[in-house]
Amino acid sequence: MTPSRLQNSILELKKKKSALILAHYYVDGAVQDIADFVGDSLELARKAAAADADIIVFCGVHFMAETAAILCPGKKVLSPTPGAGCSLADSIKADDLKQWKLAHPDGIIISYVNTTAETKAATDICCTSANAVKVAESVIDGKRPVLFCPDLHLGTYVNRVLGADMEIWNGSCFVHRKITSRLIRRAISEYPAAEILIHPESDCSMDEEIVNNPKCFFYSTSGIIKHVKESSGEQFIIATENGVLHKIRKECPDKRIIPISESAICTYMKKLTLENLYKTLLNETGRITVPEDIASRALVPIHRMLEL
Ligand code: SF4
Repeated sequence: MTPSRLQNSILELKKKKSALILAHYYVDGAVQDIADFVGDSLELARKAAAADADIIVFCGVHFMAETAAILCPGKKVLSPTPGAGCSLADSIKADDLKQWKLAHPDGIIISYVNTTAETKAATDICCTSANAVKVAESVIDGKRPVLFCPDLHLGTYVNRVLGADMEIWNGSCFVHRKITSRLIRRAISEYPAAEILIHPESDCSMDEEIVNNPKCFFYSTSGIIKHVKESSGEQFIIATENGVLHKIRKECPDKRIIPISESAICTYMKKLTLENLYKTLLNETGRITVPEDIASRALVPIHRMLEL
């Protein structure tokens, strides 16, 4: 089938089954184009929580579909790529977190949503890159230690913004780890008129000079899109996974959008195709479930985050 016929077939099936398709900004543009909603982790978690469809097809990696399954226990959450992991979520296991907590028995644990359900179940409050500063601010009281996991770069960035001293796990995303200070400095010199929009999971977010550079702005994925839409600038370097360029170029066709690197690509996200989305919806396969005891504990830190 051609891509457009596949898209039409998916849309027909979606209507027939009253399914909801949620897609992350990092999946292929052809998939984003037929989704009911495209967003970042925080936006997708909110959409999943509010969904009234019986079937939710989650176009993202495993931990995202798992979060949707935790938030919607009575619904069928399907993943076209149930085996698609995430290097960041794999950076910490629930047992690692429990050991860390044993060393800080009165510590408060903030876990990024890019973690497994089991890790979330051992967490006090979750965060995403869009709300990490706000979440950290809500728990830092100067009395109890705060432990942030798993992303070293995001945690360091939050510490710098808040002047805080959270303990940070040494995990990272393999895509953002390659967005180094050297790449950013090269972009600044090659495109002197451009604004540089950087995801705080990036390696360069540990570099004080880059963080303080007036041409550099640190945002979550949705924050990057918002900045491009609202800025009067005409050129933007996008320093995050390249899937988001599709949305930005659609929304801002008159602006010049330049990826920081052609290889800023998440291979886990790109496993998702129109073909496997079609088959998943047709056969209702790839159901994501979370054991009840883990789901009920993991729901607590997710809810705390959504209520902020
Ligand atoms: S881009 Fe990084 S954090 Fe996002 S899913 Fe891929 S590996 Fe995980």
